[in-house]
Amino acid sequence: MPPSPRTALPEKTCAACGRRIVWRRRWARSWQAVRYCGERCRRSRRARRGTDARLEEAIRSLLAVRARDASLCPSEAARAVGGSDWRALMEPAREAARRLVARGEVEVTQRGRVLDPSRARGPIRIRRARAGARG
Ligand SMILES: [Zn+2]
Repeated sequence: MPPSPRTALPEKTCAACGRRIVWRRRWARSWQAVRYCGERCRRSRRARRGTDARLEEAIRSLLAVRARDASLCPSEAARAVGGSDWRALMEPAREAARRLVARGEVEVTQRGRVLDPSRARGPIRIRRARAGARG
């Protein structure tokens, strides 16, 4: 049943860019099956599934060898995966970070403050999630 306009609309996370997807009327019948925020994400996800998985793994392994509170820049994951072509992977690395936020694995911060990765503008840092995770 579609939610009434006065209640909060259902949300999920785009499987490609990691941004929040808010329920829309055109998805009334297919909401369960919606995985991407749009066609661009559906296509990009198909084209670079392997790279996306490597970026997520790079973020995990780079954080794993650091102090629990240490953070990293998405560019470090981009360099780890892309080598000299790392610049092309900057946005994919930010997207990988957002997906990991959606899974509760990491937090995205700006000037030391945790923020909603769907709204982040400008440079971000990535660190291990703290809520409920005790060393
Ligand atoms: Zn998307």
